[in-house]
Amino acid sequence: MSTWLFSTDWRKSRLLILCYHGVSLDDEHLWDPSMHLSPEVFRSRLKCLRDNQCAILPLAEGVDRLYKGTLPPRSVVLTFDDGFHDFHAAAWPILKEFSAPATVYQTTYYSEFNRPVFDPMCSYLVWKSPSSRLDWPEVTGAAIQLPEGRAKAVAAIKSYCLREKLSARDKDLLLLELAGRLGVEMETLLRRRILHLMNAKEIREIAAAGIDVQLHTHRHVAPSRNEALWAEVDENREHIERLTGRTATHFCYPSGIVRPGVPELLRQRGVVTGTTARAGLASRTSDPLLLRRVFDTCSMTEVEFEGWLTGVECFLPRRPLAQSSRYDDLFAGQQDERCLDRLCRVDPT
Ligand SMILES: [Zn+2]
Repeated sequence: MSTWLFSTDWRKSRLLILCYHGVSLDDEHLWDPSMHLSPEVFRSRLKCLRDNQCAILPLAEGVDRLYKGTLPPRSVVLTFDDGFHDFHAAAWPILKEFSAPATVYQTTYYSEFNRPVFDPMCSYLVWKSPSSRLDWPEVTGAAIQLPEGRAKAVAAIKSYCLREKLSARDKDLLLLELAGRLGVEMETLLRRRILHLMNAKEIREIAAAGIDVQLHTHRHVAPSRNEALWAEVDENREHIERLTGRTATHFCYPSGIVRPGVPELLRQRGVVTGTTARAGLASRTSDPLLLRRVFDTCSMTEVEFEGWLTGVECFLPRRPLAQSSRYDDLFAGQQDERCLDRLCRVDPT
């Protein structure tokens, strides 16, 4: 990549906020390459940032300097959504190798109830199954052929949970039965804490070591009633502040859903930045409550990644849209709130 591309005035006045979800403990990047990077790919990204002399800034500093116009060249911020255990076990050690600061947007319900997050684990078990069919009449009706019927099986299980109004504990038991029916050894997944969130001890540990832990709602939801949203944000904030001893004022919209009026209301409640799922670089004209980010995925090539570092990708019309198409739908509010995300609604029992 030509070095002059990194030094344009256009790029110098912009902040690239990268978004990550998981770094694999095992084969999660093969199951869902849009949400998980292998440790090797994640390390290669940090090496690329170092080789291109990018300035990796803490989120608060990056945003502050963005609006003051004092960003160093090639400014980048690293953010991790949801706060999975693999951040502690796989991503953090690599960040430490490169002395890179990062922000974790921590959702907290499954941190307290520290069992596998239902939606992703359900999908992961169905993907991992060596069986050729799922025969579970009371949940799925007719038997479902695998692997071609994976999506159908996951959809049937989720609708069963909604129909039966299952609590998080009920759904956790359902996962154990699902694993048994699919021939997947659940004990190993539980021991390795695959698709679990960080527990209190882990959150305390990363915060004490300088990782920035910020807001993402308690149950990873975007309720349409403002009172319900404030309850979610307040509960999330209380958990985070109790564990980290620091005030949390940065927010990431769960599933990228931004309802009209919510950014202004968040601002009034002391939230200073909000990051979205819209692709692009943040500029001084960006609303700080609607900051764009770039989702780094396994399918992104090194050339594309460098294209985001320089900002060239912003001028390639199809790239940003292709990268975030599933999230653009969410912005349009066209999907059922209950089905929006891998960390879907749970009942606090
Ligand atoms: Zn999230």
